[in-house]
Amino acid sequence: MTATKTSHVPLRRCLGCGRQRPQRELVRLALDPSGTVSVDVARRLFGRGAYLCPESTCLKRALARGSVSRALRVSTGGTAWVEAFPLSQR
Ligand SMILES: [Zn+2]
Repeated sequence: MTATKTSHVPLRRCLGCGRQRPQRELVRLALDPSGTVSVDVARRLFGRGAYLCPESTCLKRALARGSVSRALRVSTGGTAWVEAFPLSQR
């Protein structure tokens, strides 16, 4: 009997580019109880989530298409979360 620790990596799809990436490489967006979209940095918020690469191209593309509100099933979740979005600076 071996207690194998599976190295299964949960994959999530980015709303911007549509690529599947390991969940930890993506930024999670979630709906807070007040119905506002927020960046779930700690990935602890309960409920429906949406994922984006930490890249401005993906962020812009998702915003242009309204993908975030569609994924989170909100008519308007506001865009205040964009300010808190942790873009990777390269
Ligand atoms: Zn992406």
